[in-house]
Amino acid sequence: MTKLMVRCKNCKFKFPSFTQINEVAFETAAPNNNVEECPGCSEMLAYSKKDYFFE
Ligand SMILES: [Zn+2]
Repeated sequence: MTKLMVRCKNCKFKFPSFTQINEVAFETAAPNNNVEECPGCSEMLAYSKKDYFFE
């Protein structure tokens, strides 16, 4: 099963989004200014649709 992933803007670490939605839901209700905490560097940063991808 694919996961909604995001790449940390600070350390480039790739991690699964805290909010998991499927690809259909992503197209209609993509995350916008969604705050994620990076497990690599603990930075709390806001991410938008373009920052997310499925893997
Ligand atoms: Zn990071």
